[in-house]
Amino acid sequence: MDRQLLAAVLADAGEPSYRAAQVWEWVTRGAASYEEMTNLPGTLRDRLEQAVPLSTLAVEAEARSDDGTVKTLFHTGDGRPLEAVLMRYRDGRRSVCVSSQSGCPLTCTFCATGQMKFGRNLSADEILDQALHFRRLEAIDHVVFMGMGEPTMNIDAVLAACERLPDLGVTHRRTAISTVGWVPGIDRLAECEMPLSLALSIHAPNDALRSQLMPVNDRYPLAEVLAACERYRAARRRKVFVEYVMLDGVNDEPQHARELAALLDRRVYKVNLIPYNPTGAYDGSSPERIERFRAILAEHRLGATVRLTRGRDIDAACGQLAASAAG
Ligand code: SAH
Repeated sequence: MDRQLLAAVLADAGEPSYRAAQVWEWVTRGAASYEEMTNLPGTLRDRLEQAVPLSTLAVEAEARSDDGTVKTLFHTGDGRPLEAVLMRYRDGRRSVCVSSQSGCPLTCTFCATGQMKFGRNLSADEILDQALHFRRLEAIDHVVFMGMGEPTMNIDAVLAACERLPDLGVTHRRTAISTVGWVPGIDRLAECEMPLSLALSIHAPNDALRSQLMPVNDRYPLAEVLAACERYRAARRRKVFVEYVMLDGVNDEPQHARELAALLDRRVYKVNLIPYNPTGAYDGSSPERIERFRAILAEHRLGATVRLTRGRDIDAACGQLAASAAG
């Protein structure tokens, strides 16, 4: 919801300032219409209905997976596409994966969003509206910035959205920002008051391979990125989650696992191996190769988990839905 527009319309209607908080409370509890907001006068409800859309985003398509994952393609008021995903886990966890940008200015070679044209940064309200969309389906408790875009390149809007997430029932500790390793962004998170989680997309254990997969590595090579993560760890006293997408025959050899284990200080990092959702250029590693990689990390006492795959049947990988709608 465009909260600035809401405030302006309420002021224009001569309403007391607590009305904005009343509306926001309804919205964060999953209200799907002004009708439901029974503590507002009827005339005001009608006026808001006309003047302030409940969401800044319009739903263009929605896909539901057999495992309960829901993926939604939205567009902004100016027609920019973006996606968000609700992941439902057996333990009851409800996690929403949000986009921070429409498209992405970076060009990671394995990522569908990286192959799209960059649109623009999303506003804090556009980020929150993704979570609010799913909040209307059910209560949510985790948010991860692992949808389209690089959150640290839109850090002001991302942090402004994070400030409001507890209103929706998502604590800062259950909010994770995932980055390619944009050093100034990591430093902002280290300084930030909110205890947000940090995830680093590393994907390769050396600069040569990493630059091939992630051109941004030429700008911020591994040594600088890891130094920034260690500053975050020192300031926040929290581990950094490392994401490593498993690409068959590219970064999944035993030697890569040994190199990664030597690179990462186990007091600072926890590794999450990500089965690749194929989007064209690469094949994903087999479960056997992923397990072999994990076991080598474990031999070197570097803890690693394998990410549970959700929504395989609905193209739930980053950028896939927007890319197929655009194509
Ligand atoms: N730009 C940020 C956040 C968005 S991507 C970042 O790169 O961290 C979120 C995660 O999804 C990243 O780790 C990214 O590498 C991974 N990812 C992208 N495409 C994928 C695919 N097709 N299959 C599996 N993971 C993918």
